[in-house]
Amino acid sequence: MKKQFAVIGLGRFGGSICRTLSEQGAEVLAVDIDEERVNEFTPIATHAVIADSTDESVLKSLGLRNFDHVIVAIGDNIHASILTTLILKELGVKKVTAKAQNDYHEKVLRKIGADFVIHPERDMGVRIANNITSTSVLDY
Ligand code: ATP
Repeated sequence: MKKQFAVIGLGRFGGSICRTLSEQGAEVLAVDIDEERVNEFTPIATHAVIADSTDESVLKSLGLRNFDHVIVAIGDNIHASILTTLILKELGVKKVTAKAQNDYHEKVLRKIGADFVIHPERDMGVRIANNITSTSVLDY
């Protein structure tokens, strides 16, 4: 059976995860509170729904507890990101990846049980620095 993914928050970060998973043939549920963002992903994702992920009853009715991996890609609204992650873990979702906006946000996400925490700008900075040094080593 195909793995089921859900991406909550369809900004640049969540949108690119949703797009890539869909291109790879995965089943993806795309969720955002913003109707325009959801409309953009209707032709891309398996299902796309307008929903407030801080509402536990909504997450339950979407059947999120049965998904293999849920990505919480809400950054700016730290409260919404934390509450969504907490509800998902309480529902029993096995793997939750969450995007952190800063170190404090990351710490809270880990405490409430996020399985993977991503800090896109910082992680990308580390990767680029490593690439630059490994390339310059090869250059010599
Ligand atoms: P990015 O940095 O990935 O481009 P962004 O700058 O658009 O994201 P963010 O605040 O990180 O903004 O939000 C990402 C997405 O999460 C937005 O599309 C926003 O509508 C959505 N979002 C915010 N709160 C909720 C919520 N409670 N439920 C569902 N989606 C939400």
